Amino acid sequence: MGGGQESRRLHDARRAGVEVKSRGQRPRPGARTPRSEVIVALGSNLGDSANVLREAVIRLASLSARRLRRSSLWRSTPVDCPPGSPPFVNAAVAFEPTAGETPESLLARLQALEKEFGRRPKTILNEPRPLDLDLIAFGSEVRATSELTLPHPRAHQRRFVLEPLNEIAPALVLPGQTKSIREWLAELRTDEVVRRIPDTNSW
Ligand code: ADP
Ligand code: MG
Repeated sequence: MGGGQESRRLHDARRAGVEVKSRGQRPRPGARTPRSEVIVALGSNLGDSANVLREAVIRLASLSARRLRRSSLWRSTPVDCPPGSPPFVNAAVAFEPTAGETPESLLARLQALEKEFGRRPKTILNEPRPLDLDLIAFGSEVRATSELTLPHPRAHQRRFVLEPLNEIAPALVLPGQTKSIREWLAELRTDEVVRRIPDTNSW
């Protein structure tokens, strides 16, 4: 891909309110603590997955009260998926919800976005999908209904969630837990192969 196209993407992302982090960047001193932070994990294993995630993040930025933080793109082996499923591209974002947003209203928006990006109602468990948006956390909110479990019950067991999340919120302790993302990741033992896609810290 040409450098011109990449810098245009960067420009578009910045304009859409996506914080484009250079590696090793520290939070600004005095940066204000968000009212509550939303964490969304993104995944795709159908279509032009990297591009789907780029577009989806731009849409998520429009739901954020301030600049959204986002991880690199990661490639992962499918977990608990039908045989022959293509690999996933994964990422995670953190943002501050706008006033009046609730976990339920946000989940509805995420599901509408999944549909917009071509997601069909599932017929087979974990079949390939152009876009999966999982709500990992919504501040300190906790839910246990058939529609919504918060924090996401499997997030801390999945390397494809923890690796991207560790880039943007390593010290985060999810509600009801005692270990940080960094600690969960350090002690995780799974067969999953999850690799950072090079040069995607500014996708
Ligand atoms: P998965 O993400 O586990 O591969 P799906 O995306 O197909 O599977 O599952 C979506 C279902 O999970 C939805 O019906 C949704 O209501 C439910 N759900 C429960 N908690 C959450 C959550 N925290 N984030 C996203 N979906 C959730
Ligand atoms: Mg999902």
